[in-house]
Amino acid sequence: MCKALIIGAGGVGTVVTQKIAADPVFTDVMLASRTKSKCDAVAAAIGGDRVKTAEVDADNVAQLCELFRAFKPDIVVNVALPYQDLTIMDACLECGCNYLDTANYEPRDEAHFEYSWQWAYQDRFKAAGLTAILGCGFDPGVTAVFTAYAAKHHFDEIHYLDIVDCNAGNHGMAFATNFNPEINIREVTQKGRYYENGQWVVTEPHEIHRPLHYPGIGERESYVIYHEELESLVKNYPTIRRARFWMTFGQEYLTHLRVIQNIGMARIDPIIYNGVEIVPIQFLKAVLPDPKSLGANYHGQTSIGCRIRGVKDGKERTYYIYNNCDHEQAFRETGTQAVSFTTGVPAALGASMWAKGLWRGAGVFNVEEFDPDPFLAELGPQGLPWHELFDVDIEV
Ligand code: NDP
Repeated sequence: MCKALIIGAGGVGTVVTQKIAADPVFTDVMLASRTKSKCDAVAAAIGGDRVKTAEVDADNVAQLCELFRAFKPDIVVNVALPYQDLTIMDACLECGCNYLDTANYEPRDEAHFEYSWQWAYQDRFKAAGLTAILGCGFDPGVTAVFTAYAAKHHFDEIHYLDIVDCNAGNHGMAFATNFNPEINIREVTQKGRYYENGQWVVTEPHEIHRPLHYPGIGERESYVIYHEELESLVKNYPTIRRARFWMTFGQEYLTHLRVIQNIGMARIDPIIYNGVEIVPIQFLKAVLPDPKSLGANYHGQTSIGCRIRGVKDGKERTYYIYNNCDHEQAFRETGTQAVSFTTGVPAALGASMWAKGLWRGAGVFNVEEFDPDPFLAELGPQGLPWHELFDVDIEV
């Protein structure tokens, strides 16, 4: 018997709930979020009475605990926003629940990405005998599992790691973000940062870029940005000399982004408008398309993977492991686009790994600390098939 509680009924929460509801390891499933009607719509689409729903403010530990004590989840899957990570972890500790998320904690008033806040929970989860699984979406998530798989099977030492994330889809809108606009714009407008020879090198936003070739897609301009899995991967694989994260952006997207920043709409500090306090980026989110609504007209593929150089048996080798996901196929299966799909499938699968006793431990873990094999064996059947290329030109 395993009870799963999912928090957050956005694009990612929709996919997670569908996948968890379809997994017989979970005897009871609940979806809770700020707006209960959104949970009800997801539950109704699944049908029957498989998914219970509830309203909860995940910023409020007391409210969370009331819900946890009533439903008694074994595992809580947090796919609300990164702002809620710590309150949900606090409630898990208070009520004896295990925890999984897809994005590291961010304070609301500072676009700052690091695991220190959540790693600080290590002793408390350990003492409570509970598991906290951090960053189990696609990136972070599958990218770290790919790296763990490479380290386990193909390398004695990983020296160079380049995570490459291409969205070659077209949704037909002038400007839209693929996941929560506020979180997405905070992420892509920050300074670039990569790891080299034991140091973090900081760049201007989008300063380093070059065209990279993606399988089944072709060449796309790719930009070095900071991404949170770099922090845990260089810690867990100390042989890494350089680790970078590349993401593709179209010129039109970058132009919109520049204008949004130049006119102050990306600001995260409150301003007074007509006597009311508003945060410009939160206002912008309210007028941008809901990422969940993009799916109907989204065509093309995403391609995300790891390009790795290192040594095996004293010989240099290169290795590329990746998944391509088709937006239309994701929409047909779940009613959401590929970015929600590629995040939601691994989150549900991580929860399933925990429920089956395959990913367990007392403490706070990043996903590369678990055995990648059972996870990757299931990832293809769950809708995200992956491929390997050996000793090819990985361009980076
Ligand atoms: P959405 O904005 O679509 O959904 C977020 C959901 O959380 C909404 O239903 C929202 O409620 C709910 N929520 C927000 N605040 C609270 C609160 N205080 N209490 C309860 N519920 C709340 O986001 P996405 O589905 O696109 O993304 C979800 C998460 O996935 C984010 O953390 C994002 O960073 C992460 N992500 C991770 C990726 C990865 O590969 N690792 C990739 C993409 C996303 P309401 O509907 O009322 O607004």
